[in-house]
Amino acid sequence: MTASYTPMMEQYRDIKSKHPNEILFFRLGDFYEMFFEDAELAARELEITLTSREGGHNIRVPMCGVPYHAVESYITKLINKGYKVAICEQVEDPKQTKGIVRREVIKIITPGTILSELLLSETGNNYLVLLYEEDDTISLSAADISTGECLWTLFAGNSRLTAVCDQLFRLMPSELVTVGKIHSLDTISSFVSQRIPSCAQTTLVVDDVTQAEQLPQRHFSPEELPGNPCVLSSLGYLLYYLHYTVKNDLSHINRLINLDTKEYLVLDAATLRNLEITRNMRDGGRKDTLLSVLDFTKTAMGGRLLKKWMEFPLINPLQIIRRQDAIEEFVQKPTLREQMIEELGKIYDFERIMTRIEVGTASARDLVSLKASLAVLPAIKERLNSCGAKFWLDINLSLNTHANVVNMIAAAIVDNPPLSVREGNIIRQGYDLELDELRSLARDSKQLIQEMEAKEREITGIKSLKVGYNKIFGYYIEVTHANSAAVPPNYVRKQTLVNAERYITPELKDFETKILGAQEKIVNIEYQLFLTIRDYIKERLQDIQLTARQIAQLDVITGLAEAAARYNYVRPQLNHNSEIIVKDGRHPVVERLLKREMFVPNDTTLNHNDSEIMIITGPNMAGKSTYMRQVALLTLMAQTGSFIPVREASICTVDRIFTRVGASDDLATGQSTFMVEMNEVAQIVKYASARSLIILDEIGRGTSTFDGMSIARAVVEYIRDKVGAKTLFATHYHELTDLADTSRVIKNYSIAVKERGSDIVFLRRIVPGGADKSYGIHVAQLAGLPKRIIERAQQVLQELEASKSIVSVSQQSREQIAATSTITPVSLFSSSVADEILTIDILSTTPLEALNILYRLQNKA
Ligand code: ADP
Repeated sequence: MTASYTPMMEQYRDIKSKHPNEILFFRLGDFYEMFFEDAELAARELEITLTSREGGHNIRVPMCGVPYHAVESYITKLINKGYKVAICEQVEDPKQTKGIVRREVIKIITPGTILSELLLSETGNNYLVLLYEEDDTISLSAADISTGECLWTLFAGNSRLTAVCDQLFRLMPSELVTVGKIHSLDTISSFVSQRIPSCAQTTLVVDDVTQAEQLPQRHFSPEELPGNPCVLSSLGYLLYYLHYTVKNDLSHINRLINLDTKEYLVLDAATLRNLEITRNMRDGGRKDTLLSVLDFTKTAMGGRLLKKWMEFPLINPLQIIRRQDAIEEFVQKPTLREQMIEELGKIYDFERIMTRIEVGTASARDLVSLKASLAVLPAIKERLNSCGAKFWLDINLSLNTHANVVNMIAAAIVDNPPLSVREGNIIRQGYDLELDELRSLARDSKQLIQEMEAKEREITGIKSLKVGYNKIFGYYIEVTHANSAAVPPNYVRKQTLVNAERYITPELKDFETKILGAQEKIVNIEYQLFLTIRDYIKERLQDIQLTARQIAQLDVITGLAEAAARYNYVRPQLNHNSEIIVKDGRHPVVERLLKREMFVPNDTTLNHNDSEIMIITGPNMAGKSTYMRQVALLTLMAQTGSFIPVREASICTVDRIFTRVGASDDLATGQSTFMVEMNEVAQIVKYASARSLIILDEIGRGTSTFDGMSIARAVVEYIRDKVGAKTLFATHYHELTDLADTSRVIKNYSIAVKERGSDIVFLRRIVPGGADKSYGIHVAQLAGLPKRIIERAQQVLQELEASKSIVSVSQQSREQIAATSTITPVSLFSSSVADEILTIDILSTTPLEALNILYRLQNKA
């Protein structure tokens, strides 16, 4: 027998067939129901009961459901587990339809398109990234729909694949969408699965290419649009996917930014990780990162922007100076800074509120938060009036205070509205006349009835007259039969009971319609008024978004000034001489972590004349890594515009910072530490330029000493001869210190230690010259290895050193012998013998001839 489903089940199956990749939440009254496989899967993942329902003639369909008011938390769970959810709503009023209600999918929620506050992190962006390839170029476009940002970068050339991965690592998307064929998709995919495991990967099939191609023109102004067809297509597909999922006109996505890698200091994935700029290596969290030290922002928007400034430092000195000037002014004006911090503290994440206003999910509470945020602006402007830096002047000049919006919300919305916008209690008394009347009617209805009852009793003289209500007849006046005679003519009889008659009057009916409709009308009017206000604000979307961005900048600069003041940072000079000169520099994060011990500051000199490569030796734990990272971090901080922990510094901007420091085993790709290390070194020597800064920590450690040392030496020589980048190179191969003799640009440094009896004291000072001992056993002792092991190690070391001296003696005598033997033919034989030997054609000489020649030569000698 063929299955025949009920019409509703047919409707479900029809909609589901268009959404095979999403879990379909099908609205049925107060529930979202899931059926068939979706129900089985959701019941399992959400740990809810799986039931079944009659789906047609002799068919039972698996089913599970969640109440509509709690749907967000269930969606959150599924998205976190990597699923996508399609929300299917009733799009007709069930009361006014015959047959089954029309239903439509109104939005699809994916990790990259979520707007729920439960899922969005306040401190970071939530990027959806789309990759598209055309003729050897890859275009990456990204959008954060929660803030309205849209970015693009075009990658060409041989390094494009690595560059794409690096950019992905900076953006940390929650969803990666690819369109069409991408040649090295496997490499990108496995990079994403390893390094950004929370990122969902999707392939998009575009059904309507023409529509997709037109979308960039609809969202962005012509002057913003790039000319490159590959970029235009990728932007089109990105917007297409967003429209397909969010199903909204998304007019808040209206600004396009080109993340041109040439305009920013390039930080590849390894460097971002190694230097722990915004995420630590331990768990990817913020603790102990540079960002955590510098973050004194007060608003969510500022927090997100600071993170971006750290991940995309500038290269152009003029832009850096602009930021520095602004910071300097706030460092010098502590009262102003404090006041600004206080004002910023009152500002909510209105960048995201504006998005909710645009997509229609903003609540009255959001509007109150928006009002509170915008209400701070006049005070901020007032404070900025006394500022002179160009940065501040520009912001102040264009900062709009949106007084109309503030006044409108203040006048209309109560101070503490409920979360729901459909249950009333959001509009202030006195804002709307009709609403006020209805409210007083609803509130006073009981009293009005009592008043009416009293009035009718008086008119009719019937003491027992009552005004009552029932569901069938509504309001009525009840008079006992005994008093029927006294009933006035305007009473219309409605119902006869055993003891009494019930009547209505036109006045009573009037009253009834008013009261019964009042509550419903109140809720409706409130909702309509709310929508009008929300639309009014929506019309000012772009303006308010701009304000949000200005506040973010203000917040970041104020925060950096606060960090500078608190931690005694200094404004670095920027130079064009390609020099990095630091006096008394400190590591910004380590200096914060040291509790009792004081951080020992150190100098740095890097230039192309006589100090391009620093070879740093010194025992383990002396502070080599700290020092090298410090140089990289100070440069990076300087390029964000921030002040830096130094006594004084002059820094040139660098185009890239490369780091190769202690790799952990990359088990996921099956690569050994050594392989990962060599890969990273390969990348460095391939892509570094004379304007780059390279940090190499102990390369060649994962192989035999001679291999390692040879590779390390060859790499330094290559950088010296072919790259010319400023390089810090820490090594425990003391043999490499003789590289300094090969070139004037290579300099030896070591981290000083002092021997005190059998102990060593780390001085943490970087001093010119190589270290002569490695003190490994001392460090092992400090680390708490048992005394027995330490003593035995010392004994072995002595034995080895003794045998080394024997080896070197015997080696010396061998060398002497060799030297003697090479001199021998010249000094012992006469030149005629030598000449004769040289003329012999050995290949054509027979053994007998050879013997004869030998005999002749012997006689000559
Ligand atoms: P290495 O790379 O030589 O093995 P590290 O750079 O890892 O040594 O430093 C070891 C520890 O020494 C760090 O964790 C830090 O606490 C401390 N340290 C390093 N440099 C300094 C400094 N300049 N002042 C104070 N303590 C420091």
